[in-house]
Amino acid sequence: MNATNFFSGNPDLVEVFDKAVSWDRIVRAVEGETADVTATVATWREVCDLAGRYIATEIAPRAAKVDEIGVIRDDGQIRMNEPMLENLRGLAELGLASPSVPPDYGGASLPFTVTMMIAEMLARADLATQVQHGIGWNSPAALIYRFGNDEQKARYLPRLAKGEIMGAVAMTEPQAGSDVGRLATTATQQGGDGCWILKGRKQFISAGQGDMVIVLARCVAGSTGLDGLGMFVADRERDNYVVERAEHKFTIRGSPTCALVFEGTRATALGNPGDGWKQILTFMNESRLGVGIQGIGVATAAFAKASDYAAQRVQMGKPIREHPMVAEMLLDMETTVAGARALAYEAAVLQDLVMFGRDQDAARDARELTPLVKWYGTEGAVRVCRLALQIHGGYGVVDEYDVGRFMRDSLITPIYEGTSQIQSLMALRAPASLVRRGPSRILARASPGGRAGSDFAAARGHIQGSLRLLVARLLRRKGPALLRGAELSDEDLGPILLHAERLTESLAHTHVARVLAERARLIPERRRLAERAARTALLVTERNRRAIALDDGSVLERIAAWRSERS
Ligand SMILES: Cc1cc2nc3c(=O)[nH]c(=O)nc-3n(C[C@H](O)[C@H](O)[C@H](O)COP(=O)(O)OP(=O)(O)OC[C@H]3O[C@@H](n4cnc5c(N)ncnc54)[C@H](O)[C@@H]3O)c2cc1C
Repeated sequence: MNATNFFSGNPDLVEVFDKAVSWDRIVRAVEGETADVTATVATWREVCDLAGRYIATEIAPRAAKVDEIGVIRDDGQIRMNEPMLENLRGLAELGLASPSVPPDYGGASLPFTVTMMIAEMLARADLATQVQHGIGWNSPAALIYRFGNDEQKARYLPRLAKGEIMGAVAMTEPQAGSDVGRLATTATQQGGDGCWILKGRKQFISAGQGDMVIVLARCVAGSTGLDGLGMFVADRERDNYVVERAEHKFTIRGSPTCALVFEGTRATALGNPGDGWKQILTFMNESRLGVGIQGIGVATAAFAKASDYAAQRVQMGKPIREHPMVAEMLLDMETTVAGARALAYEAAVLQDLVMFGRDQDAARDARELTPLVKWYGTEGAVRVCRLALQIHGGYGVVDEYDVGRFMRDSLITPIYEGTSQIQSLMALRAPASLVRRGPSRILARASPGGRAGSDFAAARGHIQGSLRLLVARLLRRKGPALLRGAELSDEDLGPILLHAERLTESLAHTHVARVLAERARLIPERRRLAERAARTALLVTERNRRAIALDDGSVLERIAAWRSERS
């Protein structure tokens, strides 16, 4: 990998662009049936190359400074630091502030897949800058473009596309994190001119220091849970809402993570008040893929550093990469990064077909893959960064070597946009249907050949075996009523909820094995990588099946005891 262009200098990313993505389907979905596929793809490739050069040569060298300075807190004003502002100005000058916005509003109409490639390169250079770019510009622009009325589009999109203003998306509240349905911020209609008044608090809002915010709030009086929510846009000017503080934190230090207070805040409704949850779900699919891809960016940075270091550092008469344990770590990192990338862009393409082509089959497959991309991309990033640190020995904890920052930054990725545990629940979606219909349509129809293919098939068998064990346990609890489609409570589903992350890990590894094996059919030089991924999938699924088989019931017993303490 070369460090002067994060696109053309990264052979795996180039391979994904040139050989794995079916661009013709995307071009037709985005630009229409008559579009010139070759010319459009060539333009998108040039954009990636241009972005890759700027990000590698300008943004990456400023990352340590962005991290060291952190958030500026001056006289109660919360601001981004100067190197980060310089990064963002540079991206805006290249026309990359909100590149998915259509040209009518000043954007470049880039498809999701290309925007994600730019996001990956940015995350490799500096995750804090990528968060400000993604959440501050792209996310509000995407939501306003999708759900806004003409007036809202005209008011916000051109300025977001030029990078003149920055926004944020606020769902989380102090008492409502994973459980969004507990949110208590209210929106009340005032008069007949479309003005709503917001009241409440939001917590942990990335880029919350900006000029406007999209707020998820309860707008139907008396509603509970995920019903009766709406999305609202509020401007910050004239202290319409208060940025109370930015948290002091050890990860993505340059990105202000803010607490916001709304007290009589004037706002307008974005889309249909009452449809807020349905609307935000469309955003969550994209942003969860985006966070999986953040993980890939950070892991790429850590892998590149560790590879260089292991080639140069000599101990016991040879470069440390020639010591088998270190070599194995490097191969493990390479497989994880390439596997996560292959799976993530398979899902990104599906997302484009859903967004632009309204393709229902793609929607079903994207729903299956999205939580796995988030889970594998982010948990994989933490592991890869940990290995990079270990390969650096004592130097790993020294700031100048950067891997400490990669480690710290990677740790946020399995938390925000739905934790790994929440992704695991999403991956199993409806546990009842999982029990009745099996885990995966995509895995069921895959049949890669060769050694990778037989390990893949064995891994898939272990997933089915794990499920059979869990169904047997459910049958013992619920009896034959289970097979007749009886309602299942959380208590009935206890064994599945307990092992959800194990099943998710097994599913994610097996999908990675599938996608790499399918790629190796097209590109024979990738055969060894595919075989390693398939062997890992086999080992992981076997271990998880055994862990489920050996479950001694003590976790669910302890929960029952805690529950009785409460009653
Ligand atoms: C740096 C940063 C930036 C953020 N940016 C934004 C933003 O821009 N906008 C926004 O709206 N929010 C943002 N968030 C909030 C983020 O999405 C939440 O922190 C996250 O969803 C988890 O919520 P929580 O912190 O309240 O944890 P909790 O929901 O309290 O979870 C605590 C633990 O319990 C586990 N858990 C909870 N429920 C279950 C369950 N049913 N089964 C199994 N395990 C469970 C979780 O996995 C976790 O390990 C950000 C957070 C951070 C730290």
